[in-house]
Amino acid sequence: MGFYKIIPLHLGTITRPKSNMILDSPPSDERGDFPLLAYYLKGERGILVDTGGNPPDDPYGQKAQPYTRAPKQELPNALRAAGVAPADIEIVILTHLHWDHAANNHLLPNARFYCQRAEYDFIQNPTPEASMGYEFERVRKTPYELVDGDAKLFDSVSVLLTPGHTKGGQCVVVDTAEGKVVLTGDLVTLRESYRMHPPRPNGLCVDREAMLTSLRKVKAVSERILPGHDPSVLLPGGVL
Ligand SMILES: [Zn+2]
Repeated sequence: MGFYKIIPLHLGTITRPKSNMILDSPPSDERGDFPLLAYYLKGERGILVDTGGNPPDDPYGQKAQPYTRAPKQELPNALRAAGVAPADIEIVILTHLHWDHAANNHLLPNARFYCQRAEYDFIQNPTPEASMGYEFERVRKTPYELVDGDAKLFDSVSVLLTPGHTKGGQCVVVDTAEGKVVLTGDLVTLRESYRMHPPRPNGLCVDREAMLTSLRKVKAVSERILPGHDPSVLLPGGVL
């Protein structure tokens, strides 16, 4: 069994209220800059977790949450800087299908795309109350391999069904030389909230109880996580 090295990719920056990022935070106008992130798993296979957002100015643009993206933060450029060509990504695991996590699938010509069946089913028949954050037209273009619940996908890489932020979110569990690491997607956006007592998930959720159950499920697997929008993962040593 081979270990993977996890390399975070910085794919743009959103400015938004910090209180949105942690469940039950007191309302505050304090805003922060938060990265759009994907994670390249370097190992036996070329694996990418999430693909980032659409171009800030494209017609699919997410109006509710404008963000900035420098050329070096475009997915192909970020991958090359991490030492891999887009054509060499074999596998993409999507934590969920929000605009800022799944909008660049078309830039990976040789990849197979894995998402949870519950997430896929939702984008076929979305309900208005859970639709915020999706660019449905764009994410429906990808042919997905559908996963039903918890599953080992490959040696050293498995997924956990973790609904709450969306209907069919999933976390990715990766074996590294330092132990198991969980890539949480937007179940947890900031590592500091995972270390609170009790730990708290993201403040944005479609199902609060499901979200808390999902958080406990991740806690049982590992204390080491890589969240969906945490600037600290981009600092030197930030993956550890
Ligand atoms: Zn999200």
